[in-house]
Amino acid sequence: MAKGEIVIDEMYCHGCGYCADFCPKKCIVLPEDKFTPQGYRLSCFVNTEDCTACKICSFMCPHHAVEVYKYVEV
Ligand code: SF4
Ligand code: SF4
Repeated sequence: MAKGEIVIDEMYCHGCGYCADFCPKKCIVLPEDKFTPQGYRLSCFVNTEDCTACKICSFMCPHHAVEVYKYVEV
């Protein structure tokens, strides 16, 4: 079960792929047919159920394009 989710801001993503490379759960991919408004490859959140909200993707992003939201029980 997912422990969180991420949101990637297409205005800041530069398509470097660090987030995808370092996600331990393979929750991020860079499809060949998705691009940011600036024309960079756009990273996309997939396998959403596997996200642990570890924040590695956010830490690795040099452009501060990834926000991580951790689910909490209420
Ligand atoms: S690390 Fe940041 S800039 Fe690079 S592909 Fe991922 S979201 Fe985009
Ligand atoms: S928070 Fe962790 S598990 Fe979730 S997408 Fe980012 S690196 Fe992957």
